[in-house]
Amino acid sequence: MWYSRDIEDVLSDLGSDPEQGLSEAEAAERLEKYGPNELIETGGRGPWEILWEQISAPLVVLLVVAAIVSAFLGEYTDAIAITAIIVLNAILGFVQEYRAEKAMAALKQMAAPEVKVRRDGVLKQISSRLLVPGDLVVIETGNRVPADARLIEAVNLKVEEAALTGESQPVDKQPAALADEEVALADRTNQVFMGTVVRYGRGRAVVTETGMQTELGKIATLLQTVEQEPTPLQRKLARLSKRLAIATLGIVVIVFVAGVLRDEPARLMFMTALSMAVAVVPEGLPAVATVALALGTRRMLKRNALIRKLPAVETLGAVTVICSDKTGTLTENRMAVDTVVTATDDWRAAERGASTTTSVVESHPDVALLLLVGELCNDAEVEHVDGETVAVGDPTEGALVLAAERVGLWAEDLQERWPRLAEVPFDSDRKRMTTVHRVNGEAPAPGVAGVLPLLKSAGSTGVLGCTKGASSAILDVADREWRAGQIVPLDNRRRDEIAETNDRLAGNGQRVLAVAMKMLDESIASRNDVEETAERDLVFLGLVGLMDRPRPEVRDAVARCRAAGIRPVMITGDHPLTAAYIGSELGFETTRDAVTGLTLEKTSDEELEALLNETSIYARVSPEHKLRIVTALQRSGHVVAMTGDGVNDAPALKRADIGVAMGITGTDVSKDASEMVLLDDNFASIVGAVEEGRLVYDNIIKFLRYTLTSNSGEIWVMLLGPAMGMPLPLLPLQILWVNLVTDGLPGLALAIEQPELDTMERPPRRIQEPVLSWSMIFDIVWIGLLMGGVSIAVGYRWWLLEPTETAHATWGTMVFTVLTLSQMGNAMAIRSDRESLFRLGVFSNMALVGAVALTFVLQLAVIYVPAMQEVFSTVSLSARELGVCLVLSTIVFWGVEAQKWVKRRLKRRREESDHPPAAGKNPVQ
Ligand code: ADP
Ligand code: MG
Repeated sequence: MWYSRDIEDVLSDLGSDPEQGLSEAEAAERLEKYGPNELIETGGRGPWEILWEQISAPLVVLLVVAAIVSAFLGEYTDAIAITAIIVLNAILGFVQEYRAEKAMAALKQMAAPEVKVRRDGVLKQISSRLLVPGDLVVIETGNRVPADARLIEAVNLKVEEAALTGESQPVDKQPAALADEEVALADRTNQVFMGTVVRYGRGRAVVTETGMQTELGKIATLLQTVEQEPTPLQRKLARLSKRLAIATLGIVVIVFVAGVLRDEPARLMFMTALSMAVAVVPEGLPAVATVALALGTRRMLKRNALIRKLPAVETLGAVTVICSDKTGTLTENRMAVDTVVTATDDWRAAERGASTTTSVVESHPDVALLLLVGELCNDAEVEHVDGETVAVGDPTEGALVLAAERVGLWAEDLQERWPRLAEVPFDSDRKRMTTVHRVNGEAPAPGVAGVLPLLKSAGSTGVLGCTKGASSAILDVADREWRAGQIVPLDNRRRDEIAETNDRLAGNGQRVLAVAMKMLDESIASRNDVEETAERDLVFLGLVGLMDRPRPEVRDAVARCRAAGIRPVMITGDHPLTAAYIGSELGFETTRDAVTGLTLEKTSDEELEALLNETSIYARVSPEHKLRIVTALQRSGHVVAMTGDGVNDAPALKRADIGVAMGITGTDVSKDASEMVLLDDNFASIVGAVEEGRLVYDNIIKFLRYTLTSNSGEIWVMLLGPAMGMPLPLLPLQILWVNLVTDGLPGLALAIEQPELDTMERPPRRIQEPVLSWSMIFDIVWIGLLMGGVSIAVGYRWWLLEPTETAHATWGTMVFTVLTLSQMGNAMAIRSDRESLFRLGVFSNMALVGAVALTFVLQLAVIYVPAMQEVFSTVSLSARELGVCLVLSTIVFWGVEAQKWVKRRLKRRREESDHPPAAGKNPVQ
């Protein structure tokens, strides 16, 4: 039993070194042996299942019956043709669904979290899938424990094991071996288990089991039945296709009854009715939507937005407000110490110049002391990669370590020589953190040695509390100050001065941290009120200004947001002046100063709604303020995307319509609560995802519009023909053919349409908007009528010349051809809602051009190849007849283009009346 043994035994059993961890070679070997660290999922649909779904659809079953009946009646050509069409249909549907399924599976893989592991003595970040037994992992607040592991070290470690034991209260963990032989899972305090969540503190542990061998793996069968829920749009579309099916069945019955009444053969009428039902019912809609959504997630991934929940794709397109963190999302998070201001000194890191390292310690001892304390109160580590020194961990902390290292305060084994006795982790509510160290006399580096006498003279007892945080958060708990080697009381004049310095730095866009210390004694290690003891009566050491530039691409992204009718909002824990500076650099709109968390606390819900319209910058906020802001925005009708990285952000992320977690700096808890993860933590990626979201929705609607208008055309042909006294204009196999070639390829090509020129220049879609809007219904009626009308008019003219009993004649072939080609024109024109095809570029969707060309060639084959003529009951058209078909079938194209032209005119006129040209007047504010 891992828990009842000493940690040394456990480590040697697992063949792991407590300092070095496993070697990469050993880890690779073990990965071969134990397999990846993942729970094997049996969810998802296999290919056979998908295929079966394709051929067991009710209408397809009817077609199969029709094929069998035809075969029995000796109509072999019909039977074979119908079978071919069933097979082609099934292949198309299968390919669509299979691709969707694959994309979803790939998505899940991508979502695997990263872990910090020590291999070959180096701390690395790897995918948790690559963990093997024996690996040394580091776990911290907000992590999901990546595998089952035995603790080596734990600091204030509290783990919530609800996933395993159902107990939602976090459990205290510590590394000591347990005496008993039989300990229940919930009481194994020196082990941590896969899937549980670190709520507090941090620890180091050695992995004992991975994947299905873990405790979670043993009960994982329970988790594998999670069904993929359809998205709201998919649900709407499924409902719509059901309704349309009922409506078209009604029409089909009318055609059937009317035909029988006119003495058409019943078998022909049955086949006609069946073909129409198959052709007109848009049974492929939800599948096309899934493909479009899945393709959308893939494109979003290319733009560094990982979608965790499929519905997010469509919701993204309707987002009206994006609330974003500042640090790392709007800024580069490549922090560097710029300025250190102490009571007597104002030191610029850049001025270090040619001076040797020790001289900073000598010439600016107060600065050196501050940097040393900042370096101790720190979880970042330095690493040497290709001769360069880089910091791993939180960039704010990393900047402090690097700055200290550069002036000769060696970071490397400082933490080891001056071990931590206790700590209070950083938390964005308190906005400060504290570590407590035993300061040993022998110093690790000459620089540090230079600082030591200072501490001694200040009466150090050998135990030092180091605290850093926001300057107000430090001044709140400090009562003395370090001034040139002396500890003096902190009076109000100095407090004002410090606040002024803070505002000066923040006003230049710097992130400001205050650093403080406190002499403590050994008893702190065994106390359980570390926070209360160590974070009061501090000695203020000074302020550090860190430079963090705005990301250059964000400026553009903010402008694109505003053009798209989306409001970008900054919500940060940082100082209001820093926030305002970055905000104005990036073009955030605001008519007043940044609103602080303090102000938020004093406003009522009603006032808050008004406030939301006045400012886009919130500073010094805590996570619970975020929740309030989201809720208020939603109450005033907004669709909100909200970013977050910490454990405390989870409620706001869950509440937001789109919770956005940070891929690099985010905790696993925040990722679990989110709809989307930003792989590069970049605001611009959110805007990219919104654009893709709009595109996906647009394309689904385009496909819908195309299919429904075209199907309506087919119905009109079948209704208008007999109404004009003609025989049935289309034969069953012709109907199935039109359905196959026109819905299949061009329809799919529409789903991969590029964004339109104005995708990000129009306001967001209303989220409650029905898929079947009035404008869509209008189009279905008029475009369908135009299509059917033109086809029948051509047919009627030629039928008068040669009034046959069936459509197996020149006129029938012409109706068939005009209808097919009209739909191609429709596909090309319907690509844009408003823009003309010529502005869009005829060849800007090559897939569609290809599909149209292919359909055209196939149609020619059906008319002219003798074997096809026999199957589809067509006749060869003369050059003149074909010419007539070609010319007249463009009418639908021109009709739709004309409609778009009218739409453009109306829009321009509306804009002009909204914003009359202000000749001679002052521009409106
Ligand atoms: P942001 O929205 O900029 O990410 P945070 O909530 O992370 O804000 O930080 C708020 C404030 O807390 C910062 O302005 C800084 O003064 C302080 N702070 C941030 N990180 C740390 C840290 N690791 N240790 C101590 N203080 C910190
Ligand atoms: Mg932060």
